[in-house]
Amino acid sequence: MTAALISGKQVAEEIRADIAREVQELAEKGIKPGLAVVLVGEDPGSQVYVRSKEKTSTELGFHSEVYRLDASTSQEELLALVNDLNRRDEIDGILVQLPLPKHIEEKAVIDAIAVEKDVDGFHPVNVGNLVIGDDSLLPCTPAGVIELIKRTGMEMAGKHAVVIGRSNIVGKPVSLLLQRENATVTMCHSRTANMAELSRQADILVVAIGRANFIDASYVKPGAVVIDVGMNRLDNGKLAGDVDFESAKEVAGHITPVPGGVGPMTIVMLMNNTLTAAKRRRGL
Ligand code: NAP
Repeated sequence: MTAALISGKQVAEEIRADIAREVQELAEKGIKPGLAVVLVGEDPGSQVYVRSKEKTSTELGFHSEVYRLDASTSQEELLALVNDLNRRDEIDGILVQLPLPKHIEEKAVIDAIAVEKDVDGFHPVNVGNLVIGDDSLLPCTPAGVIELIKRTGMEMAGKHAVVIGRSNIVGKPVSLLLQRENATVTMCHSRTANMAELSRQADILVVAIGRANFIDASYVKPGAVVIDVGMNRLDNGKLAGDVDFESAKEVAGHITPVPGGVGPMTIVMLMNNTLTAAKRRRGL
């Protein structure tokens, strides 16, 4: 059996078209969602992400501001910028690109972003609201993962989901969102015993460990939905997921590719969060 491909690229395009339509409707009311992206330093990966956020935001008709700050920017200077963006009415979403240079405490910066403008969904209040099931701005990659599972047509309620990886930005929020969809969730991490045995019980398998091609067919239940969050740069310059796609696709029912799977979803969910923030701030 060969799995059906879940094209994140295509799903992202569909969501993007929905966002564009809503932005048009808001424009007729004189509202333009505003996204501010802040980059400190010259990390090449971060520069690529920021460029692509800027491009998508502009193409969608958002008000877009990008701040490229020198690597020597002090924490106080960065906090002053965040506070200014918090106050400005034309800004609905603030994203500070991580990682930050070592002399800046990431937590202090995340905590300083106004909760209602925290379009990355990393502020402790948004994380807390996610845990207790209240409305919040959801972290982008996990929200994208859930959207991709939904698009397979699989009903998540009552299914066994296994999440491999427990980071704050991917694994933990994915597990909470899966529970919100009424799946039964097992979390695995680097200290998990019998991981392949647990993983083979998964109707839904989400992998976010940062190890190229680690999860092969021996971890996959026949017919499972496999979502590969991993983005690993190989020595030959190519991008690889955490799942050994060629092997896993022979067993899975649905599977995401890398690239073209979860990656394109993250940015479109960021735009969706900005739109949501813009509407909520105006009571729409
Ligand atoms: P992370 O913070 O490094 O966390 C990795 C997690 O995987 C940890 O919980 C770790 O366990 C677990 N782990 C590592 N090796 C393992 C193993 N051999 N067996 C079981 N668990 C293992 O990583 P992250 O930020 O979540 O990112 C994970 C991957 O997703 C990376 O490739 C990253 O580039 C990618 N990513 C992609 C997107 C996107 O937009 N597509 C967004 C974010 C991240 P412990 O907790 O026990 O250490």
